[in-house]
Amino acid sequence: MTQKVHIIGGGLAGSEAAWQLARRGFQVRISEMRGTGEGTPAHQTDGLAELVCSNSFRSDDDEKNAVGLLHHEMRACDSLIMGAAKVAAVPAGSALAVDRDAFSAEVEKRLSALDNVEIVRERVDQLPTEGTTIVATGPLTAEALAGSIGAATGADSLAFFDAIAPIVYRDSIDMDICWMASRWDKPSKVGGGTKDYINCPMTKEQYIAFHQGLVDGEKTVFKDWEANTPYFDGCMPIEVMAERGVETLRFGPMKPVGLDNPHWATPEHPNGRWPYAVVQLRQDNKLGTLWNMVGFQTKLKHAEQVRLFRTIPGLENAEFARLGGLHRNTFLNSPVLLDRQLRLKTAPHVRFAGQITGCEGYVESSAVGLMAGLMTAAELTGRTWQAPPATTAMGALLSHITGDAEAESFQPMNVNFGLFPPLHEVSKKQRKEAYTARAKEEFGPWIAGLTPAN
Ligand SMILES: Cc1cc2nc3c(=O)[nH]c(=O)nc-3n(C[C@H](O)[C@H](O)[C@H](O)COP(=O)(O)OP(=O)(O)OC[C@H]3O[C@@H](n4cnc5c(N)ncnc54)[C@H](O)[C@@H]3O)c2cc1C
Repeated sequence: MTQKVHIIGGGLAGSEAAWQLARRGFQVRISEMRGTGEGTPAHQTDGLAELVCSNSFRSDDDEKNAVGLLHHEMRACDSLIMGAAKVAAVPAGSALAVDRDAFSAEVEKRLSALDNVEIVRERVDQLPTEGTTIVATGPLTAEALAGSIGAATGADSLAFFDAIAPIVYRDSIDMDICWMASRWDKPSKVGGGTKDYINCPMTKEQYIAFHQGLVDGEKTVFKDWEANTPYFDGCMPIEVMAERGVETLRFGPMKPVGLDNPHWATPEHPNGRWPYAVVQLRQDNKLGTLWNMVGFQTKLKHAEQVRLFRTIPGLENAEFARLGGLHRNTFLNSPVLLDRQLRLKTAPHVRFAGQITGCEGYVESSAVGLMAGLMTAAELTGRTWQAPPATTAMGALLSHITGDAEAESFQPMNVNFGLFPPLHEVSKKQRKEAYTARAKEEFGPWIAGLTPAN
């Protein structure tokens, strides 16, 4: 096969996509800017697939954990990243962790050993106007290329900072305390409903204690290069707002006006009363399994978030699909811009892969790179691409970023069971095992159709 695929970015996603294509006989050119004297603010070496922070691929438990399940599925697809991780693994309990240098060296060795892979150290500044291309330049995409992507997609479509608010599993919220309502019962623009939000009510006492908790809570510190990236008022951390005064939040994200709490109804007030303050959660995926804490982007340490947010009435037993954070991160509004095959709708010769698509994490970025490789291979051989079922970890992640996430509040997402079609009929205790069992059952036939040639 002579078709050439240009992959921009030799990180986790780009390396994995190159492997999948090259193993199927395609010519691949990887353009990686590190090694030319260029770098990113986080990478330390010139090695392919460098892990920029932790050395862990997280849980390797494929029976109870969504990321462990993703490992399992990637291994079944002959993943380069999983293969290299096995060689470079270090003891880490039930997690999969690696010696980062050995890992990166193994990825580079395996790719370099393939005759049809060309690794070129060069920075790409413009989106190519033709030729099959995969852009996998990651959260720290170099400025000129980011500008070119922004120009092709519209200025609002490329974010440079993720201000992440925590996401809570719907079935861990206590609806005997919370209630569904939109402020002033205003009909929603989508669907016309008047009960779009989950509201958690607070008394004055609870609010004052919560406010103090935010002010006192332990925060993570910005890295130098992050501190220089300004955040906008719209994504100001909740604790920074709290520091501006005890009332600031009650006039901001915790404003109670127009929200009658029916649990507090009396004969005099049959619709209930406004609480002193309210925490609102908004639906975050089409399945309705994940709910986003509105305005709660935060730099509080993760353990502190869990402790403090569980003091919110109705969230005492909250399970978090994702905790809050603030990072520099270049990513697309993929649900709007990309088709179901990760292609830019306005320029389908360009496919995106990795964290720039709005997935989050080493494993997720690699998995999206893997799928981008498979999709490209299918396209170049004239076959119809069959996506993995949405009940699998790969399928659930792909569905989320390519259309099932809410485009308006789209923020980078880890793989988690909230992205899977729900199994309400299974008891909560057994659900994790049920999700992984169903995924494996449905992944089998899909992978069986994926022969080495396709
Ligand atoms: C500071 C930081 C810490 C993180 N820590 C973790 C963590 O601990 N655990 C975790 O799971 N996830 C973490 N992530 C999130 C994410 O999973 C990683 O960034 C991951 O490496 C993303 O994979 P990727 O392949 O999409 O991008 P990358 O691995 O970053 O690869 C992109 C590659 O493209 C190259 N490149 C960029 N622009 C150009 C250009 N114009 N031309 C040519 N090459 C270019 C870069 O040099 C890089 O090699 C972190 C992210 C950041 C920013």
